[in-house]
Amino acid sequence: MTTPKEFFASVAQYDPNALPVEAAQDIVRQWAMPRGADAPAERVSLHDALGRVLAEDVISPIDVPAFDNSAMDGYAFAATAVTGAGATVELPVAGTAFAGRPFVATSGGRECVRIMTGALMPPGCDTVVPQEQVTREGDTIRFAVAGIHAGQNRRLAGEDLARGKPALVAGRVVRASDLGLLASLGIGEVAVRKRLVVAFFSTGDELRSIGETLSAGSVYDSNRYTLFAMLRRLGVETLDLGIVRDDRASLETALRHATSSADVVISSGGVSVGDADFTRDLLNSLGEVAFWKIAMRPGRPLAFGRLWSGERAGAGRSALFFGLPGNPVAVMATFYFIVREALLAMSGAQRQALTALRARAAEPMKKRAGRTEFQRGIATREADGGWRVVTTGPQGSGVLSSMSEANCFIVLEHARGDIDAGDDVEIVPFDGLI
Ligand code: AMP
Ligand code: MG
Repeated sequence: MTTPKEFFASVAQYDPNALPVEAAQDIVRQWAMPRGADAPAERVSLHDALGRVLAEDVISPIDVPAFDNSAMDGYAFAATAVTGAGATVELPVAGTAFAGRPFVATSGGRECVRIMTGALMPPGCDTVVPQEQVTREGDTIRFAVAGIHAGQNRRLAGEDLARGKPALVAGRVVRASDLGLLASLGIGEVAVRKRLVVAFFSTGDELRSIGETLSAGSVYDSNRYTLFAMLRRLGVETLDLGIVRDDRASLETALRHATSSADVVISSGGVSVGDADFTRDLLNSLGEVAFWKIAMRPGRPLAFGRLWSGERAGAGRSALFFGLPGNPVAVMATFYFIVREALLAMSGAQRQALTALRARAAEPMKKRAGRTEFQRGIATREADGGWRVVTTGPQGSGVLSSMSEANCFIVLEHARGDIDAGDDVEIVPFDGLI
């Protein structure tokens, strides 16, 4: 692990008050060490494994498929039966093989066997002609030889997964297909990493909880719900610590409590100019802060570092800390582009880059060079198969409805200025398939 000294040396080349997004991502990556192989694991049943991180490789105990079988409904025969035949060949039908009901009488020579998809290849047969290519009269079939090649339409034992080979590797985040794959191996439970514990809270004297009346100047706390949802989706265990008032003592209590009970602490609000002083002071006394501001919009004020639960840095338990901005859209943009990867890495998950596509800007977009902007976009597929994208309109970082309306982030790189209609831009879709 990088020592704080090495770490700060690597950071020193940047301005911690306005880090380019890539530099911030690099720093977070170095700091968010994956929990090693010694990280606690637990065994769970397949249903409970969905979305969890595999703690060890899963070695296939069997071949899948376990036996050579037909990939089509048709007729199985030995390829040698058609060598030397003329343009068409006639074969007598010796019987039928169904999936789960093999035809075991020895075939081969110049006989064939009617065979269904998934049925065991009868002894002596290595090739299947699809039924559509065959004319059958009584117990004889006839088909054209042209285009037939030995071994066609036969699935070989072990061609999907070979016995003794890793079917899934440690660090895999288990998906729908993986549950089916594990079931196909007859495996009913797997070892997964214990969930990462992430504590989060909102800060702000203006914040009210649902059920409270909104007095003049107050707003409902929405960030805790957004954060809860985003964390849930990542498969971590959440610890909701509520709303914390804007005073040093309350913030200190919340941070100490969070640090002593979680691997990662996320706050929202209270790190922008004006709040920064007492927060900065406090964070410096509880731990080490790597940076305060990122050259990104939304999301500029963002404190990142490590906190300790004890009396000083280095004492007690430690947790990574992300002090996100208060603005609701900024919370989401910083979560996906700064926090997400760290949580996955610490969870022991293999790195999963966000999906990025090229799209054509269908309208001009205002963009200031010198910061990365994450605008909310609506992307649609064009007739030529490419993507076009428009913004959702006003891009204020408090306009949370823009996130609900959008289906992608439009990522406008650091150095870029205004975008003209027709320019290529990068989009990161909100939805993945599985
Ligand atoms: P701050 O970063 O604390 O200066 O907050 C920036 C803006 O975000 C202010 O308008 C806050 O009222 C708003 N805000 C902060 N926290 C929340 C929250 N949890 N839910 C909704 N809005 C918030
Ligand atoms: Mg605030």
